[in-house]
Amino acid sequence: MAGGGELTGHGGYRLILLGPPNSGKGTQAGRIAERLGIPAISTGDMLRQAVAAGTELGRRVEEILASGELVDDATMAEVVRERLREGDTRPGFLLDGYPRTLPQAETLEAILGERGEELDAAVLVEVPEEELLARALGRGRDDDTEEVLRERFRVYREKTAPLVGYYEERDLLRRVDGDRPVPEVTSRIFHALGVADQGAARSGGAAAAAARPGSSGASGGSPVASGTLAAGGHGRAVGATGKEARKR
Ligand code: AMP
Repeated sequence: MAGGGELTGHGGYRLILLGPPNSGKGTQAGRIAERLGIPAISTGDMLRQAVAAGTELGRRVEEILASGELVDDATMAEVVRERLREGDTRPGFLLDGYPRTLPQAETLEAILGERGEELDAAVLVEVPEEELLARALGRGRDDDTEEVLRERFRVYREKTAPLVGYYEERDLLRRVDGDRPVPEVTSRIFHALGVADQGAARSGGAAAAAARPGSSGASGGSPVASGTLAAGGHGRAVGATGKEARKR
């Protein structure tokens, strides 16, 4: 596929979303997936649900989740392999929170390879760590203690950040500035993917309009799809669900 431009012509989107903890990835995943008609798959949500339901998997991972460490790669491989077998991933998927280590990236490549498929893009939502930490602590309603939060960042730097180079080498990486209002980030992600982002301006007003960098014709104003993205605001975004799940 062409680097930096449109996605491939197989008619689907196989995407992953990378970014540090608390970068708003979950919210973006919901918005992007809804617009593209693909499932947003959050492994964090899946694990939290398993914990809440008290399944065997849930009991196994509960302490690890609470500590900010990562669940082992073999367990995650099972979880993701099984999830990607479901029929709703046929038109594509947006993985949020997987892969998180180099071995996981290789596993994903293998799982897709078995199906004769490959990844289309890895979107990196970039926000400075200090900014995220300040935001999370300033909010005063953390799901995590400061200690756990710092641990999550440390793990990200050590285990997950190397994926940036991994996907860069494969010409799949798309960097997006995540330190902006939600609709603007969404708009930038669509732009990075070469997807028309009608609707972003509608839900984001001036901010989103300003977000269209040098607006190629692709993001211009065909009204046809303009309702689609706005629908992301109906509370069905996976990110919202994820946050709620975390509270339970
Ligand atoms: P998240 O909501 O993506 O931040 O995930 C919450 C927690 O679930 C993480 O801190 C990890 O303990 C665990 N987790 C989620 N996805 C993965 C993964 N791909 N590999 C290992 N652990 C994961």
